[in-house]
Amino acid sequence: MELDFSSRRVEARIIGPDGRQLTRLIEIRKDPITGRNCRITYSRSLEKEAATGTFPPPPPGAAKSAECPFCSHRLENATPRAVSDLLPRGRQRYRDSVLFPNLFPYGAYSAVSLFDDRHFVEIGTARVETYADCFINCANYLKKVLTKDPDAVYVAITQNHLPAAGGSLVHPHLQVHADRPASNFHRFYQDRAAGFFQATGEGIFSAYLEKEIRDGKRYIGRTGQWHWLAAFAPEGFFEIWAILPGSFSICDLETGHWQALARGVLSAQRFFRSLNRNAYNLGLLAVERGDSRLELRASLKVRANYAPWVRSDFTAYELMLGEMATFVAPEQTASKARSFWDRQA
Ligand SMILES: [Zn+2]
Repeated sequence: MELDFSSRRVEARIIGPDGRQLTRLIEIRKDPITGRNCRITYSRSLEKEAATGTFPPPPPGAAKSAECPFCSHRLENATPRAVSDLLPRGRQRYRDSVLFPNLFPYGAYSAVSLFDDRHFVEIGTARVETYADCFINCANYLKKVLTKDPDAVYVAITQNHLPAAGGSLVHPHLQVHADRPASNFHRFYQDRAAGFFQATGEGIFSAYLEKEIRDGKRYIGRTGQWHWLAAFAPEGFFEIWAILPGSFSICDLETGHWQALARGVLSAQRFFRSLNRNAYNLGLLAVERGDSRLELRASLKVRANYAPWVRSDFTAYELMLGEMATFVAPEQTASKARSFWDRQA
């Protein structure tokens, strides 16, 4: 079963305001994993996107450590604790990272993991060790959840950097999720990976990666065993993936894997920062079951800048037609991003 990296082009012929005929090119790509289409509407890059001329100033919350429930002076009294059969001390520490339940949970075991006591950190400026420690704190928590509830196999680590990306507090943190019911993506990717393995004996992300390494146009670089590339059919601005071929479990990863992931995440953030973007989402999901064929793949997507009256990156096209319309070719994203990986290698 060959993965289908297909794309087609359509043209819109219009008369411009100056009376000249214009041809606008739109590329429609199909994601080989999901089968979902995205559109690259190249001409929209000619539109001036508000608040991207320079890097935006920090959000108002950046100066409000006194009110922040995640800063250490308030943490003890302002954040919840886990039940004792999950975390005997209520919260879990790994070096400077502190993890505790989400006060407003999305699922049975939603938790929040803080990087450290720094209240505001601009995108791309965190330390690698800080990031790696926070990831490890999340993974250690997931191991405890699975010991307590072995059926809560649908797990994920996510990040919303700044309110424009869905973050409710600017204090840097990751979210950890574990549940018995599968999210849509867990269910879909799990089924797709299982079907692909049954048909080919291969992991679907391994097959995707092999093809992308051969092609080379969207391949960005490597940190440890993680391979970084621009998504062929992005469903977010400047979408970048990290694939760890042959690995299926967040809980099985070792310190070196997390440090390597952290190095790549920070390279991606520095790339996003170079584009004057200050908000992004990250997601890494897994099905923690021995027979899962879903390999680990992290996705990073830029969001509309957090700045006054910025236009959302999601229009009716995404929300009502279910198809992402971005405007930069993934090959261009990869080409611009590579130097950020070369520098840290
Ligand atoms: Zn804080």
